[in-house]
Amino acid sequence: MTFLEIDIEKLEYNYHSLRNRLSPNTKMIGVIKANAYGAICGPISEKLIELGTEALAVAYTEEGIQLRKLGITAPVLVFYPQEERFTDIIRHELEPVIYSKRSLKKFKTALEEEKKSAYPIHIKYNTGLNRIGFHPEEGDWVLQQLRTSYFKVKSVYTHLGQSEAPKPDKPTERQISLFKQIMMKHKRVAGQKTDYHLLNTSGLFNYPEYHLDWVRVGIGLYGFANHPKWNETLQPIAQLKTKITQIHQINSGETVGYNCGWKATKNTRVAVLPIGHADGFLRQFGHGNSWVMINGQKAYVVGNVCMDMIMVDIRDIPCCEKSEVVVIGSGARADKLAKNAGTISYELLSALGNRITRVIKTK
Ligand SMILES: *Cc1c(COP(=O)(O)O)cnc(C)c1O
Repeated sequence: MTFLEIDIEKLEYNYHSLRNRLSPNTKMIGVIKANAYGAICGPISEKLIELGTEALAVAYTEEGIQLRKLGITAPVLVFYPQEERFTDIIRHELEPVIYSKRSLKKFKTALEEEKKSAYPIHIKYNTGLNRIGFHPEEGDWVLQQLRTSYFKVKSVYTHLGQSEAPKPDKPTERQISLFKQIMMKHKRVAGQKTDYHLLNTSGLFNYPEYHLDWVRVGIGLYGFANHPKWNETLQPIAQLKTKITQIHQINSGETVGYNCGWKATKNTRVAVLPIGHADGFLRQFGHGNSWVMINGQKAYVVGNVCMDMIMVDIRDIPCCEKSEVVVIGSGARADKLAKNAGTISYELLSALGNRITRVIKTK
């Protein structure tokens, strides 16, 4: 009834569009956390690997295990591997990001217990975002710890706080300069062939001079890049579609929805659609803050968004009960809708609920 249609050909288009910006030496980590930003992680992972993506990344250990269960054998980074799951990380051959003294010690213990050595890990530095990561001053301690045979450091990285900000951007420059110092320090230590990276999707577009060894691309693969010009080079891979449940003839003065949220000022028609805030259709989309596309025309949401339903003003748009509706898609881009609700495409897409069936578009 309400389904998210995923177009794998568009994923392929975005992959090539992004890849073409990279030098042949730069590898790609496909970020597929949160079910590939609300889409569907299994088929997307398979396609990305088939296309040549060198590694995948998820946020949590559980997501990595899911990929292994789907038969994905590619390297999988786990950005935030909780310490309680370190044994699971090792048993599923996932690559943890080590970000603090405690996480490093605990992971070493887990490796001892599992009798493993030269285990692939990634080291994350905090250069200003103040999310997770070693502080640059901890670099010497980190390097000392890495001398054991337990670890094989595959990469050292950091994450920018506002890579989409117009250049020149002081906070980003500060982060990059700190990371350069960290790189120099790590590179001075002999016997370690380690890769370096710091860019996400926006960074890939905005800082071509810092592509380094890897880029970590998430939203770009799904068709968005946080800038109108960059967006032009990509195609959104998903469309959220549904069908009209019921149509009501509404007379001027009548109200629609909870708390009489909307009052008709003239006679009109209102369509009821089977999607609500429990599906990730945000309540902030109510009261005309969002629209859906019916027969190529905008129909605005009237009144409050319910948990399972919304009502839209369809005036004289040619349609009937069972007509197809595009909730997110052409004419209703996720980034545009998100902006109207004071949020971003990332949140809107990744919050699409479990009740929405994911369907792979067939040719
Ligand atoms: C989510 C995430 C990314 C991907 O960011 P996009 O803007 O979606 O490309 C990259 N790196 C880290 C550490 C992340 O958490």
